[in-house]
Amino acid sequence: MSKFYITTPIYYVNDEPHIGHAYTTIVGDVLARYHRQKGDDVFYLTGIDEHGAKIAESAKEHNMDTQKFCDQTAAKFMNAWQALDISNDFFIRTTNKDHKDVVSKIFQTLHDKGLLEEKEYEGLYCVGCEKFLTERDLVDGKCLDHKREPDTLKEKNWFFKLEQFLPKIQELIESDTIQILPVTRKNEVLGLLKENVMKDFSVSRQKTSVAWGVDLPFDDNQVSYVWVDALSNYITAIGYPDDMDKFKKWWPADLHLLAQDILKFHAIYWPAFLLALDLPLPKTLFIHGFFTINGEKMSKTIGNVIKPQELIDKYGVDATRYLLLSQFPFGQESDIREDHFVERYNADLANGYGNAVARVTTLIEKNNLQIVINKETTWIDSLAKDYNNYRFDLVIKNIMSKLQELDGYITTNEPWKIEDEKKLVEVLSHSANELWLISQGLLPFMPNIAQQVLDILEAKQIKKAPPLFPRLVDNANDAN
Ligand SMILES: [Zn+2]
Repeated sequence: MSKFYITTPIYYVNDEPHIGHAYTTIVGDVLARYHRQKGDDVFYLTGIDEHGAKIAESAKEHNMDTQKFCDQTAAKFMNAWQALDISNDFFIRTTNKDHKDVVSKIFQTLHDKGLLEEKEYEGLYCVGCEKFLTERDLVDGKCLDHKREPDTLKEKNWFFKLEQFLPKIQELIESDTIQILPVTRKNEVLGLLKENVMKDFSVSRQKTSVAWGVDLPFDDNQVSYVWVDALSNYITAIGYPDDMDKFKKWWPADLHLLAQDILKFHAIYWPAFLLALDLPLPKTLFIHGFFTINGEKMSKTIGNVIKPQELIDKYGVDATRYLLLSQFPFGQESDIREDHFVERYNADLANGYGNAVARVTTLIEKNNLQIVINKETTWIDSLAKDYNNYRFDLVIKNIMSKLQELDGYITTNEPWKIEDEKKLVEVLSHSANELWLISQGLLPFMPNIAQQVLDILEAKQIKKAPPLFPRLVDNANDAN
């Protein structure tokens, strides 16, 4: 049995989770469930990043105590993941006392090792982005994402001596000791390292400019700046440094999932912090692209932000997970076409899987047949290749072609017309075994309904399945 430690980024938001967060979290969940199904020991971590000026500012706008505001956001995320059946083993919050204590210890260690130095910092700081921007990030002097002019911040704070770690990090990435996928992202990081643009960087802020953070143990006037605090969640969540047995069981991470905008921090800063702490490095980083919704950038102004609950209300939990992951290859810039959801739902789930389950179980019950499920898993094992390439769309495609084969088999053999019982048992036994395999394949994507079907098939006497996926009316197409 091997272990599998997988993380999503901790989401930095002062709002509700949207479809982008949901997508990454479902991907993590599918992988976690797939590995559990294989018999691996899995730890799946997700959570939220709660510090920084933006959060404090939002709390103020809402006239709320900052911690209460964070509690409210955390609850929204935890509820959303529960509604989507996310099987995370822990939900980390960076305002957890345990987390903050460890971040403080990490700062002390970096300080003791002489890896921090006080320097004058000046920069253009966007509160919305929670980071310093360069001139080239600005359009008409404004942050492109937040349509606001950045503040000029000048202050004395603590810099982390990043540069001394860069040659080692370059070597580790070139040799795939830290594997960065897709390979275009690896090249992007190596490009940054070769351009020599990565410099020692500031890891703290004066309390006068950002008060909402982790206190530094050696400087009363400073708090931790977002990245040391945020990235450390991956190790504080699994016991570092107080429960080293637990920590050693899970660390290093087998897979960090993240979006492209935080690539630099995960591929360069994070390994540097770990090297500084003499800790092993994560094995793989998988970076996905941004999403558009029906061809447009997701934005509150356009009003096209989709909340996961809206999809759950319409399609159900399992179908929502399935529809999101079947649309496009993971990792690419992707357009979520909600207008294709109904068509796909009806084709794959209502008329496809749901219908096949109904036909087969109805005939078995009607003829009162004893069917044995062999639980022969060679075909399931064949899905590993696409899982290993993070091609969930292809895993689903494979499962759906098996379903189509079964549909063809049923249509050809017309079991409802068969009078010879031996022949009928043969046809329905083959069909039930195929459905068992298809359900095993679908289990990581549709944990409720696939399990329900497995329970029906594995029962002593197979009973007719209840309707699993009611057909939906395709408003978009009917209107045309
Ligand atoms: Zn900004």
